[in-house]
Amino acid sequence: MYERQIIEEEKEFMIPVYKRIPVCLVKGAGIKLWDINGKEYLDFFGQGVNSIGHCHHKLVKAIHEQANKLIHFSNLYYTMPQVELAKKLSQISFGGKVFFANSGAEVNEAAIKLARIYGKGKYEIITMTNSFHGRTLATLSATGQEKIHKGFEPLVDGFKYVPFNDIEQIEKAITKSTCAVMVEPIQGEGGINVASLEYLKGLRALCDEHKILLILDEVQTGIGRTGKMFGYEHYGIIPDIMTLAKWLGSGMPIGAMIAKPLLADLLAPGTHASTFGGNPLACAATLAVINLILEENLVENARETGNYLINKLYELKDKYSFIKEVRGKGLMVGMELETAGGSIVDACLQQGLIINCTVEKVLRFLPPLITTKQNVDKAIEILDKVLQKE
Ligand code: PLP
Repeated sequence: MYERQIIEEEKEFMIPVYKRIPVCLVKGAGIKLWDINGKEYLDFFGQGVNSIGHCHHKLVKAIHEQANKLIHFSNLYYTMPQVELAKKLSQISFGGKVFFANSGAEVNEAAIKLARIYGKGKYEIITMTNSFHGRTLATLSATGQEKIHKGFEPLVDGFKYVPFNDIEQIEKAITKSTCAVMVEPIQGEGGINVASLEYLKGLRALCDEHKILLILDEVQTGIGRTGKMFGYEHYGIIPDIMTLAKWLGSGMPIGAMIAKPLLADLLAPGTHASTFGGNPLACAATLAVINLILEENLVENARETGNYLINKLYELKDKYSFIKEVRGKGLMVGMELETAGGSIVDACLQQGLIINCTVEKVLRFLPPLITTKQNVDKAIEILDKVLQKE
């Protein structure tokens, strides 16, 4: 099939929810991708999913071996990779218990349900403006962005939005009906907005004082991306519930909700479930991803290479007056422009660099944990060339 035919058939046969970029990708290896015409790209976006790069041989091997044993079976029975992965996630985080699903929205749904059960009638959850928690009805209602709500009203009841990084507003928003606060340590879709130390520490204290749950949506900050295994580690706090997806399976669809043990037990048999959640194939793959991250010190690499990337972007900021701000942690980095960034993303793509733009003006860089300083140099060289023409 040729590119034009794929584009035409997509239009004819698929529901048009994606505004697609006219490139058809057929192969990936490490940080590189190739399209149907053989053109090579450096992947500094990966939609925040390909944590260990594309098609890492250890991930491919784990998928292959598990596929030869057992791909899926009902959650009414025990399967081994699921329990092994839950143990691993508990051990590398805060000792909680795990529920598996297939995506970020689904694990956030689970967190919302757990918070409501914990609340025993208290059902309000405070979330932040510019947050993003998913596209299901409850998670889009939790999301503090009008454009995500539009057309789907009435929203699920019980979400209150307050400005990010503003502890006083949260204090004001807490009522007798509040059961939880849900927040991203770094807002990803909202433009790489980093929570301040005082904010998350203050939030933890406030939740303790009012006996309400602190839910951290680490779907985008999770496993290694920020230069720590989990975003909360930057802040010296522990959440009651944490949700993970995206980078967890490096491309295998999986999400995990981790909750403190006593809290977790409130989700008793029959209260929640997922047919595919935690299936042996996804769990074996995810175990291979986490083992590789640990064995090859990839979190350390994210910290070092991320700092290198941030410094290089600062150099560009000194050079171009239309760059407003550089922000982020590890390999989760944003560069805010004075003007819209879409044309820069397109021009980078032409030059073989895949990046993304969020909230119109923030160029977003989410390269994999295996990124090297040479990869950063190449990306910066392309970006610099593109920015010269702006
Ligand atoms: N939460 C955050 C912080 C996200 O960034 C996303 C996706 O971008 C989601 C939840 C939703 O994840 P999914 O698309 O896997 O449902």
